[in-house]
Amino acid sequence: MSFDTLKFADEEVAALKKEGRFIKPRVLESAQEPVSVIDGKKVVNLTSNNYLALANNPKVKKAAIEAIEKYGVGSAAVRTIIGTMSIHTELERKFAEFKHAEASILFQSGFTSNVAVCQSLMSSETDLLISDELNHASIIDGARLAKAPRKIYRHKDIKHLTEILETPEARAARRKMVVTDGVFSMDGDIANLDEVTAVAHKYGAFVMVDDAHASGVIGKEGRGTVSHFGLDGKVEIQIGTLSKAFASVGGYAATTQSLRDYMGSVARPFLFSSSQPPSVAATSLAVLDILLTEPSHLKSLWDNTAFLKEELKKAGFDTGASVTPITPVMTAKAVEFSARLFDEGVFALALGFPTVPRGKERLRTIVTAGHTMKDLEFAVEKFRKVGKELGII
Ligand SMILES: *Cc1c(COP(=O)(O)O)cnc(C)c1O
Repeated sequence: MSFDTLKFADEEVAALKKEGRFIKPRVLESAQEPVSVIDGKKVVNLTSNNYLALANNPKVKKAAIEAIEKYGVGSAAVRTIIGTMSIHTELERKFAEFKHAEASILFQSGFTSNVAVCQSLMSSETDLLISDELNHASIIDGARLAKAPRKIYRHKDIKHLTEILETPEARAARRKMVVTDGVFSMDGDIANLDEVTAVAHKYGAFVMVDDAHASGVIGKEGRGTVSHFGLDGKVEIQIGTLSKAFASVGGYAATTQSLRDYMGSVARPFLFSSSQPPSVAATSLAVLDILLTEPSHLKSLWDNTAFLKEELKKAGFDTGASVTPITPVMTAKAVEFSARLFDEGVFALALGFPTVPRGKERLRTIVTAGHTMKDLEFAVEKFRKVGKELGII
């Protein structure tokens, strides 16, 4: 099929290919498992965000099936019309409790949660949104949809954040919100949330932390960065996704009851996009229950993290600043490295520009609770072999 009016797409695709930015995703042909079938090949899968390895867990699947039997497959409505099901309100209550917050509000994804909060709270030109330079794309897009101007501080640089908070523009702002990822998704480092919160509060700003990669992963029982730093009751807004450790899709903001109620009346993704299918909400509730009653999953995740990080370092790879299950392997030959590893039966994603800055190309590995020692030893052996072949180590 061809339209003269869409010829520009051919040119754009050609340009992307020339720049090495054209994306052709690999296809998962099995469930999301520690060893998966990808593009017809069985490989050790070090790429998903399935941290707790619960995406194909029998108890979780049973909960989803039961929810379909009880509530059907979808609400066919937005939350504010008749798309609020009792399973959504249960999820909001349980995830508020999980985050030690008064209330929470559920969205369709982590992405829309960030957009919803940034857009609805930073609603005037006299507000100010202050964001870490390495924050996730959904925060950047949320900031673009907000009416407030934005200032970007250098990654985890408290001095720079303080300078911004001391500017006349910041001092005069009606509302100020400081936004940071809890765990940064490219480097696997943790925000200095204790310092960020202290300086934000000193200057009358409130804090939003995006715990997409932290919920179900760090802190007591996987409660996230706030718990990790012992900041319970001190951070105004905690974003969580249900799409990573929680194994399905969705997101929420945990906060005060009144802020929750406010967003429930004005946040555009809440008002104008339909609610999560009930089976999806049931999945998240089942994962939460497992997380709180079976500590072995979180323990395996961290044991596996320690093992893989240690072995990759021992082999001579540069694993950057990571202290979480996200372990980058820094190399300019990321694309080639990833392709060769795949031939050998290991999948680790190559990240290049514009996802990461030029000169910071890397492979990114994410280990899960479900990888066995055999899987990880196999992966390390292949990393060593291909790393040597390509002269990376
Ligand atoms: C993955 C991610 C999101 C988006 O979450 P989804 O639920 O997949 O939409 C938001 N913020 C951060 C930091 C993320 O890593």
